Amino acid sequence: MTHIYKEPAPYKKGELNPFEQMMIRFNKAADLYKLDKGLYNYLKNPVKQVIVSIPVPMDDGRLEVFEGYRVIHNNVLGPSKGGIRYAPDVDLDEVKALASWMTWKCAIANIPFGGAKGAVKCDPTKLTNSEIEKITRRYTANMLEIFGPDTDIPAPDMNTNEQIMAWIMDTYSMHTRKTETGVVTGKPIAMGGSRGRREATGRGVMIATLAALEKKGISPENTTAAVQGFGNVGSVSAQLLSEKGVKIVAISDIFGGYYNSKGIEINKALEYVAKNKTLEGCKIGDKITNEELLECECYTLIPAAREDQISSENAGRIKARLIVEGANGPTAAEADQILSDKGIMVIPDILANSGGVIVSYFEWVQDRIGYFWDEPDINSRLNRLMTEAFQNVYKYAIEFETSLRIGAYIYAIDKVSNVLRLRGIYG
Ligand code: NAD
Repeated sequence: MTHIYKEPAPYKKGELNPFEQMMIRFNKAADLYKLDKGLYNYLKNPVKQVIVSIPVPMDDGRLEVFEGYRVIHNNVLGPSKGGIRYAPDVDLDEVKALASWMTWKCAIANIPFGGAKGAVKCDPTKLTNSEIEKITRRYTANMLEIFGPDTDIPAPDMNTNEQIMAWIMDTYSMHTRKTETGVVTGKPIAMGGSRGRREATGRGVMIATLAALEKKGISPENTTAAVQGFGNVGSVSAQLLSEKGVKIVAISDIFGGYYNSKGIEINKALEYVAKNKTLEGCKIGDKITNEELLECECYTLIPAAREDQISSENAGRIKARLIVEGANGPTAAEADQILSDKGIMVIPDILANSGGVIVSYFEWVQDRIGYFWDEPDINSRLNRLMTEAFQNVYKYAIEFETSLRIGAYIYAIDKVSNVLRLRGIYG
């Protein structure tokens, strides 16, 4: 077929930045969907990109200046939503990619949010708590015209946490002269956070995995899974899947992993990590590297650590038949075709890890109505939205004769462009 939208210039592995990786998938989806050229141009670009300077008096008396970003990719479906990351190497391209993923993720999850992402270029390992608080408060003050419960709602991401969300909420509330819990999500439960938020992403991964297994006619008790990353997403995914009867044969963290064909006792691993902060030394199986985990004998592979783990270099050696992307961007765009040629089903990140933003949406709703649901209520609402999202993406993939990843992008493009047509272009 002829392609209306050109892919970025030829690339070698590792040369594509996250935004270009996202655009390859977006372009394929736009092509298949036959997206109108004008709408394509509108949807590919963020609607707003803000860069701020953050001067901070450091504990030793020096004045240091940090750079902060907030990218609103799209707000057609509602206020924009997306996390804030603190990292030394973050740049605008990375934030743009993450912001656009949020637009597609919220559209697929059928929640009334657009997509955004924020960041501060800093190394939190070299900062004291009080310096992190000052960075957070000044960043928030600089973003007062952007953030707001009706306009743009941040959340935690890499190296940011509940405490940082509490400081954002407090700083914003000091300026608006009233307590605005709905301005951020991922807050402590004591101040308007939601029950079930901590487990939400892993729970969503579990729901997506079971839905995919059902399509393949496989019952959870008769199958195996390997999970890369044993942090928030990986550990909860492994625990909930093992509770459903899936035999977890491998787990890992940044220091490496363990394989056990008889199944790993996840509760033992959780207890060990709670005490030792790492899996290193836990007697649960044979020691393997993270590279070996990705290529190990298992039915389902769940990358839940970081981006670019599955590349054109190792994709050909993957034995799993199902990949469920707990992490954001774990599969490089150049590996998509290799996996598809091998007949491996991939549940893409923008569907598989959307449990977190779905429960963030529940947190925002609860803050606005001022009434808080119990955990079974949250979990059953999450189950309904995740299952519907999975079925919608599956349907689109079949209808457009494409992968679930491109089907997910097409579903999102269809949803956002339809609302855009209904709203019309003002001006
Ligand atoms: P986390 O920091 O809690 O855990 C990360 C885990 O990965 C740790 O066990 C760490 O040791 C391990 N790890 C780090 N580098 C690794 C490497 N090179 N090889 C193997 N393991 C490595 O983080 P998290 O919140 O679980 O997030 C994991 C991924 O999921 C990220 O891509 C994140 O963007 C994505 N995600 C998280 C959420 C959420 O709600 N937490 C939501 C959506 C997507």
